[in-house]
Amino acid sequence: MSQPTPDVYEQGKGMDAHNQVMREIRSRKEASYDPHEPTRVWLDEDNTPTGVKQSLTIILNTGGCRWARAGGCTMCGYVAESVDGGSVSHEALMNQIDVCLEHEEENGDEPAELIKIYTSGSFLDEREVGAETRRAIADTFADRERMVVESLPDFVDREKIGDFTQYGVDTDVAIGLETATDRVRHDCVNKYFDFADFEDACTEAAVADEDAGSEADAGIKAYLLMKPPFLTESEAVEDMISSIERCADVEGCHTVSMNPCNVQRYTMVDELYFNDGYRPPWLWSVAHVLEETADVDAIVVSDPVGHGSDRGPHNCQECDDLVQKAIKDFDLRQDPTVFEQVSCECELTWEVVMERERGFNQPLTR
Ligand code: SF4
Ligand SMILES: [Zn+2]
Repeated sequence: MSQPTPDVYEQGKGMDAHNQVMREIRSRKEASYDPHEPTRVWLDEDNTPTGVKQSLTIILNTGGCRWARAGGCTMCGYVAESVDGGSVSHEALMNQIDVCLEHEEENGDEPAELIKIYTSGSFLDEREVGAETRRAIADTFADRERMVVESLPDFVDREKIGDFTQYGVDTDVAIGLETATDRVRHDCVNKYFDFADFEDACTEAAVADEDAGSEADAGIKAYLLMKPPFLTESEAVEDMISSIERCADVEGCHTVSMNPCNVQRYTMVDELYFNDGYRPPWLWSVAHVLEETADVDAIVVSDPVGHGSDRGPHNCQECDDLVQKAIKDFDLRQDPTVFEQVSCECELTWEVVMERERGFNQPLTR
C-alpha cells in the first residue's frame, strides 16, 4: 500500500485546516488602505533596559504579513488593515515615515528617544521592506537612542541589525513568539515556527550586540500572547508563567512583553467569541503572572489593549481601571507590591474560574 505524504496527511487537518478557516474569515474584509499613510502612529513612554523613555510608535503599512495571506494566526486581525495587492514601494514607505515625523513634531515636545516600528508582518523581511528602505529608515533615526523593529524570527540576522547599530543606536527586534510551548503556538495560535527558531534569532542578536562593541546594544524583545483560544484560564496562566521563565533564560532576550489576547475582527478568535466559545483573559490573571515572574532575569511588561471591554482583557468592570493602572505601574517600576493595593469582590469569581474551568465548559464566565 502506498504511504500518504505528510502534505496529504495534513490536508484538511491541523495547520491546513486552521489556514482554510482563517482565509475564509479574512476574505470578508472590505476596507482598503492608502499606501502613503501609516496604519497608525502615537507617542507614549516605555520601559527599556536603560530606563523609561519617551517613545514614538509607528505601525507601517507594508502590504501585510505573508503568513496572514496563507491564513495566518488565529487571533490576528492586522492583515485586515493592510494594503490590497500586497506590496508597498520605497517612496510610499518613506512618505509614511514623513507623516510619522510630522505627527511627532506636532504632538511631542522634543524628538522621542525610542522609535518602535511595527508592520503587521516582519520589518526585516525584505519582501515587505526592502534593504534600501530599511537603510534609509535607519539613517532617518540615526540620532535617536533606541529602535525597536518587529520581525518573525526567520528574518533576524546580524547584518540587518547592524544597519541600525552602526549609528550607535541600541536596537531591539520584537518577535511575536506568543508562547514558549511549541504545541500551543502551532495548535492554538497557528504560528508555524518553533521555540528553537526564536533561540536562533536571539543568538543572531547576541552576535550583533558583540559586533557593535560598546557603541550600541542589540537584543530581542519577546512578545507573548496571554490566553490564545482553546486554553482555559488556568492553562493560559500556567503556559504564560513557564513561557516568561524560558524566554528570560535565553541569552540575548532582555525584555518580555505579555499581551493579553483581545478579540479582533476577521479572526478565528472573533468567531469563537461570537459563538460563546472564547473569553479574553481576566486582568487578575495578568496581575498574577506578573507577580509570579517578577524575579526572572528580564524586564517583564504588559499593555492590556482594550482593557475593561468585553472584547479585551477584563474583570468585573468595577475594578478594571484600577487593576490596569497597577499593571502600568508595574511596567515602569517592576515592583510586584503594586498589586497588593488592589482588590475587588470579583477576585473570588476569578479564583473559581481558575479552579473549575475545563476545556469542555469554557468560558465559565463572561
Ligand atoms: S500575528 Fe504576525 S505572523 Fe501571525 S498573522 Fe499576524 S502579522 Fe502574521
Ligand atoms: Zn472586580
